Amino acid sequence: MQLLFADQLGPHFQLEEQILLPEVLGQFKKRKYHRQKAHLILSAIRHRALDSGVELIKLDSYKDLATAVSSVVNPTSYNLRRFVDSLGVQIEPSRGFVESEQEFADYVASKSGKRLVMEDFYRKQRVKTSLLMNNGQPEGDQWNYDHDNRLPAPKQSNLGVSEPWTAVEDEIDVQVRADLDKLQAEGVSFSGIDGPRLFPASREEALQAMHHFVEHRLDLFGPYEDAVLSDDWAMSHSLLSAPLNMGLLHPLEVAQAAENAYIQGRARLASVEGFIRQLIGWRDYVWHLYWHFGEDYVNQNELNANEPLPENWLELDAQTIDANCLKSTIDDISKRGWVHHIPRLMILGNIAMQRGFNPRQVNDWLVDNFVDGTPWVMPANSVGMSLYADGGMMATKPYAAGGAYINKMTNYCGSCQFDPKVRVGEKACPVNAGYWNFINTHQERLISNPRVSRAVYSMRKLSDLDELLEQESQRKNL
Ligand SMILES: Cc1cc2nc3c(=O)[nH]c(=O)nc-3n(C[C@H](O)[C@H](O)[C@H](O)COP(=O)(O)OP(=O)(O)OC[C@H]3O[C@@H](n4cnc5c(N)ncnc54)[C@H](O)[C@@H]3O)c2cc1C
Ligand code: SF4
Repeated sequence: MQLLFADQLGPHFQLEEQILLPEVLGQFKKRKYHRQKAHLILSAIRHRALDSGVELIKLDSYKDLATAVSSVVNPTSYNLRRFVDSLGVQIEPSRGFVESEQEFADYVASKSGKRLVMEDFYRKQRVKTSLLMNNGQPEGDQWNYDHDNRLPAPKQSNLGVSEPWTAVEDEIDVQVRADLDKLQAEGVSFSGIDGPRLFPASREEALQAMHHFVEHRLDLFGPYEDAVLSDDWAMSHSLLSAPLNMGLLHPLEVAQAAENAYIQGRARLASVEGFIRQLIGWRDYVWHLYWHFGEDYVNQNELNANEPLPENWLELDAQTIDANCLKSTIDDISKRGWVHHIPRLMILGNIAMQRGFNPRQVNDWLVDNFVDGTPWVMPANSVGMSLYADGGMMATKPYAAGGAYINKMTNYCGSCQFDPKVRVGEKACPVNAGYWNFINTHQERLISNPRVSRAVYSMRKLSDLDELLEQESQRKNL
């Protein structure tokens, strides 16, 4: 009998006819999960348990497993790998990614100690998979269409693409909701609001969501990939990270569906390339870096950032936040357990880095509050890319940005009580002032990095720097 984990729910994880699928409620007692994330996990497990040959068991902890199992696909976290090692069963190599762990180890060895670069990894993945390749050359003779993508936020409040696929709840969801209500009544606390299930909980739903995205929304993925509109929560993003990370979809099948849309003239090349880059490039890359950087990477804190996460982040309480960009982002997380890449990186990550929030705490908060959050996906994205807490192992410079960037890429500033151009005084934008405060705090480190040294020189010329630093040292709440 094969032991199956909750992120191995698709057909490509099945090794044996008989499957043992644990539902582990104890996990919700240890950490404060978003209510909709807890719902999605339980709903997906119970939908998989409808398949023949699958036996669902309820456990408080994996350590309570008493049924004999014979095989397992290697799980996705250090903790679970320690657990399966202790079982003495046949462990098959991990699945659900384009590159195997052995192939990535060979790739790293081939670099002979040189810095790993995502772009280089991505091009290798393109050649390996033949996706968007033409006689050994990239389709359109370019590997990267970023210059066609990443446009600023458009003037309209909504992109105007079709609504994303969302789930229609069934009897299983009714039961899950009742069980979670019961847990809450017993004292288990969740973050965020309960709401209709938005994300797929079965293979069938995941395929529907994938086809819907590819047919109706992929074409506009590229141009506004980095823009944020307050009245358009999904923009042209796929919302497929949750079903991918639960193993309901394989990244290659999603990438192939996107490539077909391009071949058949239903989606432009820049969008399809941008999307495939995320899937076979970034997603695989951060997975392999989780193992490559090691278990302790998540505890890196090179910038000595030791501020605790504020209460309104922990409670997802948008009402007590004034900065419109942060308020809307926290509100969106509370409503759905999901925001797209730019609010994660340039609003949450940027503000957390500016304010010196502790990286490990930020990492764990993100894992618990995003429906797609997992132990493997977060460290490179949070500790590395967003917070620069690894001192540059992942990104060559901190992704620090001021109010001007937020004003260009989002439509939040127009209705904010602060002004993105103002540094000091009542209207001073905390993201703008926070940026200069960050540059000032870390100037010794940043001045030796040619990619950011100009910011240090500009900061040193600011006539109101002392006032700004004093103001930011007093700021208690954004
Ligand atoms: C601070 C921070 C936290 C993040 N947390 C998560 C997370 O919990 N789970 C998660 O899967 N991704 C995470 N990401 C990466 C990315 O933001 C999400 O994958 C994406 O926003 C999910 O929405 P989507 O499915 O609509 O993605 P799309 O924009 O449609 O992109 C397509 C797919 O590419 C993959 N992808 C794109 N970028 C990344 C990346 N940097 N790392 C891993 N996969 C990527 C995802 O599988 C995604 O579904 C995080 C990024 C940052 C900066
Ligand atoms: S003005 Fe500043 S705080 Fe307000 S939305 Fe813009 S960037 Fe955010």
